[in-house]
Amino acid sequence: MERPEMKPSPISATVDFDKDGVQHGFLRLPYSRDDSAWGSVMIPITVARNGKGPTALLTGANHGDEYEGPVALMDLAYRIDPAKLSGRVIIVPAMNYPAFRAATRTSPIDRGNMNRSFPGRPDGTVTEKIADYFERILAPMADLVVDIHAGGKTLDFLPFACIHHLPDKALEKRCRAALRAFSAPYSVMLLEIDSVGMFDNSVEAQGRIFLSTELGGGGSSSARSNAIAKRGLSNVLIHAGILKGEVETSLSIMLDMPDGDCFTFSEHDGLFEICADLGAEVKQGDLLAKIWPVDRTGVAPVDYHAKRDGILTARHFPGLIKSGDCMLVIAVREG
Ligand SMILES: [Zn+2]
Repeated sequence: MERPEMKPSPISATVDFDKDGVQHGFLRLPYSRDDSAWGSVMIPITVARNGKGPTALLTGANHGDEYEGPVALMDLAYRIDPAKLSGRVIIVPAMNYPAFRAATRTSPIDRGNMNRSFPGRPDGTVTEKIADYFERILAPMADLVVDIHAGGKTLDFLPFACIHHLPDKALEKRCRAALRAFSAPYSVMLLEIDSVGMFDNSVEAQGRIFLSTELGGGGSSSARSNAIAKRGLSNVLIHAGILKGEVETSLSIMLDMPDGDCFTFSEHDGLFEICADLGAEVKQGDLLAKIWPVDRTGVAPVDYHAKRDGILTARHFPGLIKSGDCMLVIAVREG
């Protein structure tokens, strides 16, 4: 989006985006503070390029407590071989770097949620300055963007890659081809409940292919979820014609989220008992969760039932729950 009145970004890259080979460096964001008067936030970045060709921008830790992205992207940055590329790969394993270092969803500096801060501001908070750099500098360089998410400390997901229904059907088709290439165990047409300020929309609005994931959760990663992220990223790079090789596809169950009934939010505080596990085929009316009081015995729990038929796709992760928490997500098989 053209916003000609904008100031230049305060972030400077220590890498040259137009140079062939592999460079490991930083996005340096000046951040003056008590423990470092003329200090900076140093966001690690790798650029690998071999001649002309498409550009992929690969990002993790948009939310600081989601780990498949940082793990798979640290691994890719360490072993990427420019001789096997035609084009360019830009890797940022931890977009919200202050949040990543604090192991929190949002930034400890300004409480900024990166994925609600787009398009950002060059003269805003630290989180807004990072968002602005991705909006105006990095996303415009990219033909496709893969942003690896997971559930963080408070959600757990079936491992899926996802795209959105888009008004631009030609772009949606290209996103869908990338989704198929990623080949996660599940592929979801994701309905967003709170889409203002998301990186997703900012990239899609720039007409670029955008793919995201939710690969697990609970505030850590697993051998399985890390392997899905690593294979998916290399599949997408091969699909885009940037990396040499063969796409390794496997069966992916395609899911859709037709409306708001896919989500159940808690209306109670208490002790959370989940009654079906992720991946379970559920029928409307099935008992999916109970919330017990935390302060006394002899009181019946509150029951929560499935609002529709489908597959249990996400759940609240911690053992205690609060009113307003997203408790359950049900998606339906497409077609
Ligand atoms: Zn996330």
